[in-house]
Amino acid sequence: MDRQQQFVLRTLEERDIKFVRLWFTDVLGYLKAVAIAPAELEGVFAEGIGFDGSAIEGYTRTYESDMVAHPDPTTFQVIPLENGQPSDTARMFCDIKMPDGSPSWADPRHVLRRVLAKASDMGFSCYTHPEIEFFLLKDGPDARPPRPVDRGGYFDLPTHETAHDFRRRAVTALEAMGISVEFSHHEVAPGQQEIDLRYADALTTADNIMTFRHLMKEVALDEGVYASFMPKPFTDHAGSGMHTHISLFEGDRNAFHDPTDELTLSKTARYFIAGILKHATEITAVTNQFVNSYKRLYASELSTTTSEAPAWVCWGHANRSALIRVPLYNPGKASSTRLEVRSPDPACNPYLALAVLIGAGLKGIEEEYQLPPGADEDVSLLTPAERKALGFRDLPHNLGEALGLMEESDFVAEILGEHVFDYFLSNKNVEWLRYRAQVTPFELDEFLPVL
Ligand code: GLU
Ligand code: MG
Ligand code: MG
Repeated sequence: MDRQQQFVLRTLEERDIKFVRLWFTDVLGYLKAVAIAPAELEGVFAEGIGFDGSAIEGYTRTYESDMVAHPDPTTFQVIPLENGQPSDTARMFCDIKMPDGSPSWADPRHVLRRVLAKASDMGFSCYTHPEIEFFLLKDGPDARPPRPVDRGGYFDLPTHETAHDFRRRAVTALEAMGISVEFSHHEVAPGQQEIDLRYADALTTADNIMTFRHLMKEVALDEGVYASFMPKPFTDHAGSGMHTHISLFEGDRNAFHDPTDELTLSKTARYFIAGILKHATEITAVTNQFVNSYKRLYASELSTTTSEAPAWVCWGHANRSALIRVPLYNPGKASSTRLEVRSPDPACNPYLALAVLIGAGLKGIEEEYQLPPGADEDVSLLTPAERKALGFRDLPHNLGEALGLMEESDFVAEILGEHVFDYFLSNKNVEWLRYRAQVTPFELDEFLPVL
């Protein structure tokens, strides 16, 4: 047993933990868990715990259904709250393996590990932090219409009569699980919250996002409200994004920083941005995986307020309408040079989303893709013809288009691996076909009175 594993066993005893939950994530980004008694853990560390992969979305072809979950002791944390109660439960994320010990080709954590291993071969460690937006609703998920908990707006102090203590409790719970929070504030839309996590290596970030979604739902439940990560629950309000900040380090040095460049961006940073831009449309199905995700991306087209969600492939320095924003450089902090990708939403599978984003950036470095000129103006206010003239392509307009672009992409197939790629496409194509077959309230309201 290694030192980390011994530490976990000691902590179980010291903290009188009754259950250990082993967490992993299915291909669609849903959290899965199996609970074991603490006494079992030593054996599970040695051998893993077997389960029927064919019952997990996207895990197996039926003839290879046995899989083994191996808990990663570096992710051990005590869960502060479960079903509204202080808990006697801890959790660890698992790596999923085949019975012969090879990594499962279906495990999203492994997909990301593969990309990070490639980064490491190129000499880079990859740091990321997400800004996670979500809604707090007064009622459960079945209520129509959904009712936000408040009428607050950007940076308002909580104005709601329910869940007034939510953000403080949420941040406390996150910190209790070792997840540091950088900022939290009310976002633009009623009931909308934003919590920004401190940067961490990319695998930890993805684990943290999974933990975050679970914990926010728990804290909300305890406050008598409902937390939703649905990208666009309201037609008339901005949706929820998950802007993702990325930087590469070579040892202690920020590989994106070059003090001699006018924007202080290194060649490496420029290639990396060019890589994401080049592959942006192919990877959108992964960063924005639901039919609803596209309502957020294209919200600003007809509305009078800008939605601040990006729909066009371009980059800009401090430009909030661009797909990739390079935040203003803080002269005292070379280490903070980074880029912010604004398309992902908080309902994505964070392992797969980080894998395609980082994979695209690394490809840009390998192939030395040239960075096109940046966008200075608000691209959402340009006409389609103006955007075309400037070379700003549209992101896919809906899930169907996004899946079509992904299907053609050798790059996405390589990053996800053939199995995850095929499963993702077939599952999401069904979602798209089911959605497309719906006769919607919009059509009834619009057409029944006149047709
Ligand atoms: N809610 C916006 C989005 O969907 C982002 C607002 C902001 O700039 O933080 O991306
Ligand atoms: Mg925000
Ligand atoms: Mg942002």
